[in-house]
Amino acid sequence: MKRLAVYCGSATPADPRYIDLAREVGSTLARQGIGVVYGGGKLGLMGAIAGSAMLAGGEVIGVIPEALVKGEVANYDCELTIVSDMHERKAAFTRLSDGFLVLPGGVGTMDELWEAVSWAQLGYHNKPVGILNAFGFYDGLLEFNRHMAEVGFVRPAHQGIIMAESELDLLLTRMAAHEPITPITSMNPDSL
Ligand code: AMP
Repeated sequence: MKRLAVYCGSATPADPRYIDLAREVGSTLARQGIGVVYGGGKLGLMGAIAGSAMLAGGEVIGVIPEALVKGEVANYDCELTIVSDMHERKAAFTRLSDGFLVLPGGVGTMDELWEAVSWAQLGYHNKPVGILNAFGFYDGLLEFNRHMAEVGFVRPAHQGIIMAESELDLLLTRMAAHEPITPITSMNPDSL
């Protein structure tokens, strides 16, 4: 994996472990020679990842919509691309990266995570989607994901799309060994 799209919160939680985690992830990715594609802002976990990755000599590409340049404090220190809207931003994340790495975050992070998962199901990309479940932050989400599968809303072929680990090294190893899944577009409609 040459570059990962990193999705995480634009907020700074009161608990300092979250920002520390983002800094650790940024420097680890840089040390492993993995570039970061991200939302291009300076705030919260997003800014912390970008800052630590650049400090460690890593490649950092930011993609930010024009309307958010002020609100998310555009990071002109990285290789920044200003795009016209959110759709262009997310298309760029997918085009420029070899996978999606998701850290703790809020609604925007959820939007990005589920788009990566649903687009994998549909066959718009075949890249790995990894959740760094630090501090058990995503326990509830992973439980709900299992529930969707048990009820029958997630097909067996797609139940492995989300990879989740609490340790970054283990997660990166699994993501690098990712085997493409069978997307809905390649399935027989009778079996759907
Ligand atoms: P958050 O997790 O809410 O702090 O957002 C993290 C990043 O996701 C920010 O850069 C947001 O601009 C971005 N984002 C992407 N899609 C959305 C969306 N539908 N709603 C809100 N934020 C979004």
